[in-house]
Amino acid sequence: MRTEQPKVIHLKDYQAPEYLIDETHLTFELYEDRTLVHARLALRRNLERDQSLPPLVLHGQELELLALALDGRQLGPKEYQLDENQLSLQPDSPAFSLETTVCIHPESNTALEGLYKSGKMFCTQCEAEGFRKITYYLDRPDVMSVFTTTVKADKKRYPILLSNGNPVASGTEGDDRHWATWNDPFKKPAYLFALVAGDLKSVEDSFTTMNDREVALRIYVEPENIDKCQHALDSLKRSMRWDEQVYGREYDLDIFMIVAVSDFNMGAMENKGLNIFNSGAVLARAETATDAAHQRVEAIVAHEYFHNWSGNRVTCRDWFQLSLKEGFTVFRDAGFSADMNSATVKRIEDVAYLRTHQFAEDAGPMAHPIRPDSFIEISNFYTLTIYEKGSEVVGMLRTLLGAEGFRQGTDLYFARHDGQAVTCDDFVKAMEEANQVDLTQFKRWYSQAGTPHLAVSEHFDAGARTYSLTFHQSCPPTPGQKHKEPFVIPIALGLLDQNGQELPLRLQGEQTVGSSSRVLSVTQAKQTFTFAGMTHKPLPSLLRGFSAPVKLEFPYERDQLMFLMQHDSDGFNRWEAGQRLAVQALHDLIAQYHCNETLVIDQRLLTALRSLLENDSLDQAMVAEMLSLPSEAYLAEISETADVEAIHVAREFARKAIAQTLFEPLWQRYQANREVSRSTPYVAHAEHFARRALQNIALAYLMLSEKAEVLAACLEQFEQADNMTERLTALVVLVHSPFEEEKATALAWFAERFANDPLVMDQWFGVQAGCPLPGGLERVQHLMQHPAFTIKNPNKVRALIGAFANQNHVNFHRRDGAGYRFLADQVIMLNALNPQIASRQLSPLTRWRKFDQARQVLMKGELERILASGELSSDVYEVVSKSLA
Ligand code: ZN
Repeated sequence: MRTEQPKVIHLKDYQAPEYLIDETHLTFELYEDRTLVHARLALRRNLERDQSLPPLVLHGQELELLALALDGRQLGPKEYQLDENQLSLQPDSPAFSLETTVCIHPESNTALEGLYKSGKMFCTQCEAEGFRKITYYLDRPDVMSVFTTTVKADKKRYPILLSNGNPVASGTEGDDRHWATWNDPFKKPAYLFALVAGDLKSVEDSFTTMNDREVALRIYVEPENIDKCQHALDSLKRSMRWDEQVYGREYDLDIFMIVAVSDFNMGAMENKGLNIFNSGAVLARAETATDAAHQRVEAIVAHEYFHNWSGNRVTCRDWFQLSLKEGFTVFRDAGFSADMNSATVKRIEDVAYLRTHQFAEDAGPMAHPIRPDSFIEISNFYTLTIYEKGSEVVGMLRTLLGAEGFRQGTDLYFARHDGQAVTCDDFVKAMEEANQVDLTQFKRWYSQAGTPHLAVSEHFDAGARTYSLTFHQSCPPTPGQKHKEPFVIPIALGLLDQNGQELPLRLQGEQTVGSSSRVLSVTQAKQTFTFAGMTHKPLPSLLRGFSAPVKLEFPYERDQLMFLMQHDSDGFNRWEAGQRLAVQALHDLIAQYHCNETLVIDQRLLTALRSLLENDSLDQAMVAEMLSLPSEAYLAEISETADVEAIHVAREFARKAIAQTLFEPLWQRYQANREVSRSTPYVAHAEHFARRALQNIALAYLMLSEKAEVLAACLEQFEQADNMTERLTALVVLVHSPFEEEKATALAWFAERFANDPLVMDQWFGVQAGCPLPGGLERVQHLMQHPAFTIKNPNKVRALIGAFANQNHVNFHRRDGAGYRFLADQVIMLNALNPQIASRQLSPLTRWRKFDQARQVLMKGELERILASGELSSDVYEVVSKSLA
């Protein structure tokens, strides 16, 4: 907890460390009521600074110091200073050894940072600054050390003892206790340290690297989960191969381990050789995890594995550089997922997520550049901006440099900086030098926050046979940044003729005719590109593949959007045209609602969707994506002021219109796909995902008809499905339906059937928390009393409280403010238990500027109540105070 005014930390104040730690020897004695940590550190003066011997200042929080020795001599109380956050002492030589013994209490650590207990096992989470809750240390990523770790514990309760690197020795101590020693030969910062002790089972496999080295692979889980590891193990092997093939990166230790933990603040953590995962990010099997969950597991396993190079071998100099590893690694895992599944569908999902959530963050009070200038609490900066926008920025580099140039850049980056802690500038410099280009202006993406607007206008000159596109870029102000300089915006585009053919592209002044898709680099506030040889006015397909994270405006007519939906050679832009058409149709309905008019939907949307449904040759996953209307959250994000009711009513009206008009083709596709599902065992592969995706979205529409035959089909799917994808969809649409009896029976059956599987119960909570029918808040409050719910488990908090506040707009934003009050109460409670989770749950309230006056007052009132509620963690304090500023 914060006791003094929290300090703001600035990038411009960065200073290299005064001391370095060459070796770190740790011994943990784990007991039920305390843990003793002995540390022996080999320290030396960082001579890159100078020859002086300043005091040594070690980080440490919530540690009880039991012993302290300098070069073997115990220090008396006058020979060091201790406060809540650090231990200082005066060395008398440039190289020395320091030994400490501290007592800590993992058994009562509810913040889930540092060493803590999840159920019966001990585990750690040290990123970003959790290691200082384990022992006194230079807890900063530019201090890299070789770790040797011994873990001692009760033999029966904790038969498995793990840490980073390779196992080097083990033995027993008396009758009841045993120990194991691990050595990690690779220098690493403390945030990559990990320890696990528990009664775990493992699945094992092996991987032969590109240079024929044999690596043992192990996934450790609690015994009841041993049958849910295969998908992650397969994903791991595919990731290892892919990183060799696509980035030339080989694994470096003899063993790679993953441990599944039930109580975990984030998705997973890339600790060297010992990744620790939220169980929800690793466990998956057909009966218990949806297709989406399978894909998420594959992506997160890949993400954490890829960190071994982008993060571990080459790490961050300081936490302002977080996107150096996170943005790059998200980009790498997205490339992997694209290769393993449908690349276009993966891109659509990522862009929809970015535009809905990251754009909202970039427009809110916590907006920050992908390399922030300052922060109060680094845990608050594991954001969509650092991760997803960071990945987009790396993606733009690849678009500008080409696949080969980009790979040369990453090769140079890894070779040059292996074993170092570096900056985003170092990454860009490697790209520049490998490609002989100047990326000075491009680097504004690292320093400027906010989502650029790009307004595009066209001009066709029939006489001169030219077609011009003029780009106007601007970027709204964000906290601390009023004025923005122009970005470098890569625009991938094509031009279509009246038949939908792609035209060859030649800019005025160019000699040779180029290909039909190319990348323009917009670098000025206003810039015109003129294409020559245009006999007719073409239709532009702009920002193909979403080549830059911007809001692009072009005055498309609806007929043009329908044309692009059919003819664009870029799959992403076919979907994008459909989304634009849907947004326009929904905006009509919202306007009608405001004017109290009868709602009438644009038939063109229905026509366009019909032709998709009736075309058997299209990729079913694409059809499913295109049938999905923009979410309420996205519609809110693109509104100046979000009208919660109007958005909900308009979207539900459109869904019903689709269901009614397209009942026949939807019913046909549903029945055909369900028939295949019935006769095919579950497979976690792209074509099967595609079939079930279309089947399930069809079912969701069909249920809006409230027809008896659809209800019967839905119940059949719920009862008979052999997999969670079909079963959960059936449950969701039942819960959203007016069939009260069937709904209650299904919910009760499901809860009983999966009572012993917490991850499935999370889904059960989530389904109900997200239900937009009236009474949502009361249902959530009631569910918080359910025996399977506990506020101490982050997955439960996300499944119930998070799903309600983020996905159930009509209920969360109810006019009387009860939704806001509920969320604030939970945040206040969580603040004392788990500050990271508390601060994350706050984010819907930080968006108050998006809503009408009455709601703004209510939302701000709750933020003020949190601020006044007593001693706030730095996590919650930072988000609340910035939101009210
Ligand atoms: Zn990461």
